[in-house]
Amino acid sequence: MACSIKWALSYDQTNWSKVEHRVVSEFDIITQYFSSLGAGDFVALSVGDDAAALIVPTGSELIVSTDTAVCGTHFDEDLFPEDVAYKAVASAVSDLAAMGAEPLGMTLALTLPDNDPLWLQGLSQGLTRASSRYAIPLVGGDTTRGPLALTVTVMGHCPCGEKILRSGAAVGDLIYVSGTLGDAAFGLSLLAGEHRGLDLNFEDQDHLVSRFTAPDAHLDLGVRLRGEASSCIDVSDGLLQDAAHIANASGCKFIIESGSVPLSPALKRAVGESRARDLALRGGEDYQLLFTLPPSTSPPSGSIRIGRVEGGEGVECDVMPKERGYDHFH
Ligand code: ADP
Ligand code: MG
Repeated sequence: MACSIKWALSYDQTNWSKVEHRVVSEFDIITQYFSSLGAGDFVALSVGDDAAALIVPTGSELIVSTDTAVCGTHFDEDLFPEDVAYKAVASAVSDLAAMGAEPLGMTLALTLPDNDPLWLQGLSQGLTRASSRYAIPLVGGDTTRGPLALTVTVMGHCPCGEKILRSGAAVGDLIYVSGTLGDAAFGLSLLAGEHRGLDLNFEDQDHLVSRFTAPDAHLDLGVRLRGEASSCIDVSDGLLQDAAHIANASGCKFIIESGSVPLSPALKRAVGESRARDLALRGGEDYQLLFTLPPSTSPPSGSIRIGRVEGGEGVECDVMPKERGYDHFH
């Protein structure tokens, strides 16, 4: 590709500054934006060769998960690139958390419509933030031209036989969730400008939007649940829908008590308790962990009991919203 020099304004935390970006080719993009995040305790070979090499600790299994975020489907084109990247990594890491795994490294397959240096710089900042927050180095990837999409593949490790499956819930187990639900769904609608005129203070708005743009992956909790939780899933598609996934995988019925589902004060202030509960039952993308424990096991601090496992199938809840959650093909 011919050499081109572009000037762009780059946003550096608080200051706008004029910087020069020399965008030359796919290789320059990789060097400039993606090659500096590759070091880590388990990395034997990082970005730059035909493949990366990771060290899997002796006695551990390699746990792998991949997630794609497509512009227009998973995120809006005007979402900040920092948020696009951070969220893509955090949501992928959340799958490691749900398995009880600890991070080894990740790869990024990036499809870009053009070489927009400002956008790439933002993307790189978001990647840096997420990579350091979750101690997950970026060890490789692929960079191609086409409609904007990111595929993050995360690799983690877990002692052999200790990974937490969706399929282990048993009749009599109690159902827990790691924190408040519904915030991300409302944060998304705030970002979409759906609530103009709503009287909401800045802290509440910030809390709700950031639950959508920068979700937490609960890695420490996942590790703590190893050997204790009979099943676990991260809530990405909505509580009722994801509860149905574990119930079906485990061959039992999940009873959810809607009144026990935790709601943030910000969400209750924004929409009132009843609408907040509806959002908490079916809104996706909160990435809380939903797990089951035998009744004799004391729950980790901060987790909230929201129901119990009985014989039967599917999910039962005293409130059944019309739609359960998000499904790409319905
Ligand atoms: P190959 O042609 O052998 O597949 P590439 O030219 O695609 O290699 O990539 C060169 C190196 O840069 C590889 O180590 C690859 O993993 C890394 N890489 C490419 N794109 C990305 C990206 N978006 N993020 C991180 N590493 C990347
Ligand atoms: Mg090669």
